[in-house]
Parts: sequence; structure tokens; C-alpha cells
Amino acid sequence: MKELAVIERIPRAERAARQLHRLKGLITRLSERVPLYRDRLRDAGVQPGDIRSLADLARLPFTVKDDFRQTYPYGLLAVPMEEVIRVHASSGTTGKPTVVAYTRQDVDTWSEVMARTLMAGDVGPGDVVHNAYGYGLFTGGLGFHYGAERVGAAVVPISGGFTDRQLMALRDLGSTVLCCTPSYALHLAEAIEEAGLKPKDLKLRVGFFGAEPWTEAMRDALQTRLGIMALNIYGLSEVIGPGVSVECPERDGMHVAEDHFLPEIVDPATLTPVPEGTVGELVFTTLTKEALPVLRYRTRDLTSMTTEPCRCGRTLARIGRIMGRSDDMLIIRGVNVYPSQIEHALLQVADVEPHYLLVVRRDNALDTLEVRVEVGTAVAAAGTAAMEVLAARVRRKIFETIGLTADVSIVPPKTVERSTGKAQRVLDLRK
Ligand code: ADP
Ligand code: ZN
Repeated sequence: MKELAVIERIPRAERAARQLHRLKGLITRLSERVPLYRDRLRDAGVQPGDIRSLADLARLPFTVKDDFRQTYPYGLLAVPMEEVIRVHASSGTTGKPTVVAYTRQDVDTWSEVMARTLMAGDVGPGDVVHNAYGYGLFTGGLGFHYGAERVGAAVVPISGGFTDRQLMALRDLGSTVLCCTPSYALHLAEAIEEAGLKPKDLKLRVGFFGAEPWTEAMRDALQTRLGIMALNIYGLSEVIGPGVSVECPERDGMHVAEDHFLPEIVDPATLTPVPEGTVGELVFTTLTKEALPVLRYRTRDLTSMTTEPCRCGRTLARIGRIMGRSDDMLIIRGVNVYPSQIEHALLQVADVEPHYLLVVRRDNALDTLEVRVEVGTAVAAAGTAAMEVLAARVRRKIFETIGLTADVSIVPPKTVERSTGKAQRVLDLRK
């Protein structure tokens, strides 16, 4: 596994030379093999020979989710079906799922970047990886599975759901690594506490949480309640799945596997690249994917990027926490609100649990936001007056955070539906 670490640490200029070489190869492949890209590159007036530096990326056309829908299911493939050995689909959070395909080499690349992901948390032989990401069409389960095998850890392919059985496995099998969505990790933490267990009764030491937005406050909660180091991971099926980026133990941004996935941040309105550190839309070009390469894929996820050196020694660029996908943003009475801002506020109020649902309605042309949040078990029995005081505290915190008054409903423990995968945080009844 040693040489993988080297790739992550080489000087940026050396990596840029490889990236450029790979980018040129990609443009040639796309223009020869994928009709959509052949047309787009022609319309943009770009020939493979025109790519002289990475800055020329800005001249290339974008790809959007709708391109996948228009060419559904296999229209974007750059190889004949005979070379495809795996098909996955996005979880369909925002509409019809998009189908993605992998050659044998792609599955190998994926295993490599997932191995690097796990190694960022020092996972290797001797570790027991409790993999509660969903196995199936969703990329989370199998992505972590192949990565865990590649680093030589023992993988427990438990998938999502059946929380009692998860608890038994975590304890009895001596799991050291937890892989699942942050919302499900919280649910597991709660179940562990209810079973009368303390973090020291388990061997967990590190968790890889992603696939949905979460906050620093949630990290603090998970680290304390599970007694682990919680690392953020970000990926998406259109690019490969998980394995695109991961935090190192510094926990100060996610390192992008840039040798495979070239990141850019662009202004979502003008589509021009923004300066380092500025928040914009994250865009990826896959440099090595064979079956389904994408050129400047617009993720709709908002974040910023830095190429500042990291204390861990990796020279890979880092992206910040995803602030939300542009289509997650709620506009309530003209104010832009991301569910993660509400989560941040809720985690600052003692006695409520970060299990919540946002219900948006339109009453007489006026938008209203109801925040349904659970009271902690300890204070659940304190009576209505206490609940009103608590609701007022939550309302004030939300107002301080987003500048909007929300209707706060404090609900009994366990009444907000638990997810085993990506949490559904918003019910928008205006549509
Ligand atoms: P879908 O688009 O149907 O949800 P995917 O399963 O491919 O399909 O999910 C990828 C999306 O999940 C990303 O575009 C992003 O919005 C979200 N996501 C993944 N990891 C994170 C993370 N660590 N933080 C915030 N959002 C994330
Ligand atoms: Zn680092």
C-alpha cells in the first residue's frame, strides 16, 4: 500500500503534469467515443491538441445531471457494453436515478481511492470495518467494501437497517471502524446508549461519515457519544461514488483524490472559476474513468477549495464541508436557508436531540417554516410548561442563525422518522 501514499504526497507541479497528460487523453477518448461530447467539443471549437495547460479546462463544456437523464441509461458510455462489469445508480434524492457503469479497471481505481480513504483514518489489517452503508445500487456499501478488502481489514457487510442486529455486531465482532451516514451514526449512538453501553464497551475508534450534509456540531456530538474520531467523506455516483475525497485526522477539509478527479469551483451563475477559498459550485472532471468519464460535471454542491499544504503531508487540494446542494436550498420569505444551518442551531440548544424535520408551507401567500425537533429522553417527562420554554429557546437560536422566526414543535423522543441511509430533512408542501 506504500506507493499509494506517495501519490498523495508528491509536489503539486509533478501531479499537475500527470493530470494534464490524462486530461488530453480524456478529451481524445470523449471526442472519439461519446456522441454527446463529440458534439459539445466541436461546438466549443476544442480539438484535443488545444489543451496545453490545466487552465485550458475552463474552455471545455460542462456536463449536468440532465445529460444523464437525456441519455438514460447507457448513452454516455465510452466503452462497449462487453467491457462493463458493474452498474450502480445514484440514490435518486432529487429525481430519477442516474445510472453509472464501471469497467474492471474502474472498479480497481475505485478500490484504490477507497483504500486511500480508509488509510486516511489509519485503517488496515487487524481492523474490523462495520460497513452500514447500503449495499445495492447505492455506491456507498460496495465502495467501502472493496476499499476495506484492499487495505486488508476484515469487513462486516452489514448494510443499513436492523439496528438491534447492528448493535450486536458492533459489540460482539469487535468493530473498530464505523462506516455509515452521519444521521444513522447518531441513531446508532442513541441505540448504544439505550442498551446501557458506554463507548469504552466498544472498540470503535474511527468513523467515515458522508453521503449527506452534516455539521461541525454533529461531528462533536458523534465523537463524544461514540468515543471516536469522525471523518467526513464526500463522493457522488456520477464521479465514482465514495472515494472522491476524505478528511485526514487534521479534520480541516477533505483531500480530493486529484490524480483521478480534477476539481474546480465555479460561480454557479456565471460558470467562471472563482478564486481559492471562495464558495461556489464544485465541478469534477474524471481523468482515469473508462466506462463513464465525465467532463466538468456540475455537482450542484456548494463549497470552497484550498491548495494550501496540510499538516498531514498530503499535497492534495482540500474542499470544505458541503454547505448543501444548490437544490437543497430553501427560499423562505425570500431568505435562503440550508437545512444544515438549522441543524447547527439545534445542536447548540441543550435538551433537544438533532433528530429533526423541516416542514415548509404556504399559508395565504406567506411561507412558514415549522421545525419539528425531538426533546431528549431525560427532559421528556418535564411537562408542557418546560416544553414551551424549550421551544422558545430553540426559536431564538434559529432566529439568531437564519434571521427567520420558525414555528418550533418539540416532539417526544423517537417520533421523527429515523433513516438508515440518507436522512430526509425537508418536507416542502408548497409545491
Ligand atoms: P443522489 O444525487 O441521488 O443523492 P449520490 O448517492 O451519488 O446520489 O449522492 C451524492 C450526493 O450526496 C452529493 O452530490 C452530495 O450532495 C451528497 N453528499 C455526499 N457526501 C456528502 C458529504 N460528506 N457532505 C454533504 N453532502 C454529501
Ligand atoms: Zn491533511
